[in-house]
Parts: sequence; structure tokens; C-alpha cells
Amino acid sequence: MTNKKKLIIFTDSGDTIIDEATQIRDERGIVLRADFIPGAGEVLKQLHDEGYTIALVADGEWESFQNVYRENGLGHCFDAWIVSEVVGQQKPAAVMFEAAYEKLGLTEADKNRIVMIGNNLKKDIAGANRQGITSVWLDWSPRYFHTIEEPDWTPDYTIRTPAELPALIAMLEEKISK
Ligand SMILES: [Mg+2]
Repeated sequence: MTNKKKLIIFTDSGDTIIDEATQIRDERGIVLRADFIPGAGEVLKQLHDEGYTIALVADGEWESFQNVYRENGLGHCFDAWIVSEVVGQQKPAAVMFEAAYEKLGLTEADKNRIVMIGNNLKKDIAGANRQGITSVWLDWSPRYFHTIEEPDWTPDYTIRTPAELPALIAMLEEKISK
């Protein structure tokens, strides 16, 4: 049994773990399956196995995320599923983050050990920055924004591939554990 890590990971899904270009939808628009971004599945599993608490904080339909992570077999890696359809608002709304704190029993005092990973500057990075949690921009997807249009879109850290994530996470874990 691995020791639980101090750092808490919030992560987006679309274009952060799975490649949105590969999403297969049914006639209702529900996603049935999708491919991982190269390396992202291995990284998600690795971080889970290393003892990190991981919350999915994602915009979309509950059923879509259930389908995708059932089919790819990595649903067990998430300790909480915070989905906009259920919460009623999308990122960067504070309620998406607050739902994750509540689900994981986190308070204001825990914000220095929470990191949000996402591809979308306007949703994931601005949302995290406004919460005062650490933001990591995965600049892999060609979709959405690639320039910082507002001051609070500025990520604390930027990576280009999921493979860069474990070292960054280990560094952040060490930083807060001192
Ligand atoms: Mg996304």
C-alpha cells in the first residue's frame, strides 16, 4: 500500500486526458468512447498508483465521462467526479471547484496543496487561479485558446505533453512537504 500523497490533483478530461478529436458520440451527443492523448492514460494510472488523490473536474455530461472511463478502464483512478451537468455550471465557475473541495473534505487551508491541470486557459487555468490553487496548463491540443487574453489566464506551470506531468507533480509534492 502506497502512502497517500499530500498534493491533491484536480484534472480536466477533454484534451487533457482524452483526445477530443477521437470522441465517438451517440445520437443524443453523449460520448461513448475516446482515445487517450498519447501517454495520458499511463500517467493517470501512475499518479493514482503513487498515492495521489485525483478529482475529475470536467465540463460535460455525467454519462459521457462514465462511458469513456468505463471503456478505457481508468475510472478507478478518480476519487471524485465533478461534472458540470450535475453541478449546473461549467468552469471557470467557482461552484465546480467548491464541489470538489466538498466531495474530498477540503477547506480553504488545503488550497496550497491543490493543483488543477487542464488544456483550457479560459476555463481550467482562470478557474484555478481565481480559486488560489496551483494551475498547470497542458498545451498539447490545437483547440481553444493559445494566447493569454486576460491576466488571470496565466498558468503557474506549462507542459506540452502528459509525460512531463509526473516530474512536475513530484516537484510540487516535495515543495509542499518541506
Ligand atoms: Mg478540456
